[in-house]
Amino acid sequence: MRRILLLCILLSFSTIAQDKGDLVFIYDAPNEYNRVTQELYFNKGLEKYKEYLNRKFVFPFNVTVHFTDCANENAFYSNGKITICYNYIKTKYERVRQNLIDSKVVGHEKLEREAVLGIATLTLGHELGHGFADFHQMPFTGKEESAVDEFSLMTFLDYKEEPKDVRSFYGVIAWFYSGVNETKSMGFQRYASAHAPSLVRYYDLLNLYYDSGIGQDYRSLLIEGYPSKPWQMPRSRVSYSSGEYEQKKKIWSRLLSPYLNPNLSEKTLGDPLYKKPEGKHHVISQEHLYGSTSKAKIGLALNVSGFGVGERPIVNDESNESGRIVFEITVDDIGNIIGARSKESTVSQKVVELYKQAVFKMKLVPKSDNVPSTSKGIITFNIKHQ
Ligand SMILES: [Zn+2]
Repeated sequence: MRRILLLCILLSFSTIAQDKGDLVFIYDAPNEYNRVTQELYFNKGLEKYKEYLNRKFVFPFNVTVHFTDCANENAFYSNGKITICYNYIKTKYERVRQNLIDSKVVGHEKLEREAVLGIATLTLGHELGHGFADFHQMPFTGKEESAVDEFSLMTFLDYKEEPKDVRSFYGVIAWFYSGVNETKSMGFQRYASAHAPSLVRYYDLLNLYYDSGIGQDYRSLLIEGYPSKPWQMPRSRVSYSSGEYEQKKKIWSRLLSPYLNPNLSEKTLGDPLYKKPEGKHHVISQEHLYGSTSKAKIGLALNVSGFGVGERPIVNDESNESGRIVFEITVDDIGNIIGARSKESTVSQKVVELYKQAVFKMKLVPKSDNVPSTSKGIITFNIKHQ
C-alpha cells in the first residue's frame, strides 16, 4: 500500500502540472465611483485578459482575484489568493492622468480607459507571478519582485489581442510616476528593500517594452531625444540591452513551459472573435505628449544612403514662418539621429531650433542589415503656413 502511494506521488511529480483550476475574479462593490472602479468593477475591463490567462496557463486550484476597497493602497498575493485594491490602481492612474492633463490630452476617454486597464493588467500579472513562484514553485533568480515584473510584462506582450501596445505603455510608464514620487523621500533603507526602487523597475520594464518592438507609435517617444525627458530611456541603455527582449523570451518560455496548458495552440491565445480595427486606433503621439499641434504644412525630404523615413516627425510649430531648412544629420546603424546641424535656412533661428528638436526625435529605418555604424545625410523641411 505504502509503496503504491509513493509510486503515485512520484508519478504525479514527474508529469507536467495539471490544470485543476482557474483565475476567478471576485468584485466587491466599491465605495466610490471613479474612473478606476468604472473600468474594473462596472465595465469588467480585465475579464478578457483573465480568460486569456486561463487558456494559457494551468492552475493547481482556483486562484481568486479579489477587487476591493482597502484601508491601505496595496496589491498582493497571499496563500493562493490575489487582492487588488481599487485605491492602489487609482493612485497610480491619477499620476499618469495628471501627465495626460499636463500634456493637454484632457478628456481623451479612450486613453484614460487604456491607462486604467494597462496599470491593472500589469498589476494582476505581477501578483500572479508571485503566485507562480509560490504554488508552481516557478524558478527565478535575482529579486522576486523584479522577476515577477518581467513575468507580467512578458506574459502580456504575448497576448494576441490589441490594444496591448497602448495598455502596456501605460502599465510601464506608471512606474515612472511612482518612482518620481518615491525619489523625493528615499533613504538608504529603500535601496535594501526587496522591491528595487521604482525607477529601476521602470527603466528595466521600459527597455523590454521598447526592445519588444511593439507599440511602434510610442517607440520614438521613449528614447532620449533633444531635449531629453527623464522618462525617456538613455540611448546608452538601449544599445547595451538591445536583444534583451528576445533573450528574455527564450528564458521565460523555458521557465513557464511546465505551466502552459498542454492543449494550447497559437490560435487559442487570442480571442477568436477579435478583429484588428482598420487603420489607426487611439494613438498617443508626440503632439499629445508635447502639446498642441502645428498648423503648418510640412514637406520633408530625406537623403541618407541606406535609410528611409520611419515615422514622420511631429513639429510643434506655432510660428507663422514659411520657408526651408536643411539639416546635415548623422545616423547610427539602428536609425537613431545622433547629430544634426543646420546647413541653410530661410526661417528664424527659433524655428530652426524647433525643427532640430524634432529631427532628434526621429528614428530612421535602415533598409538592410549592412549599414555602416554611422552615416551622414540631409533632411530638408519645406514649411508652409496658410
Ligand atoms: Zn510584488
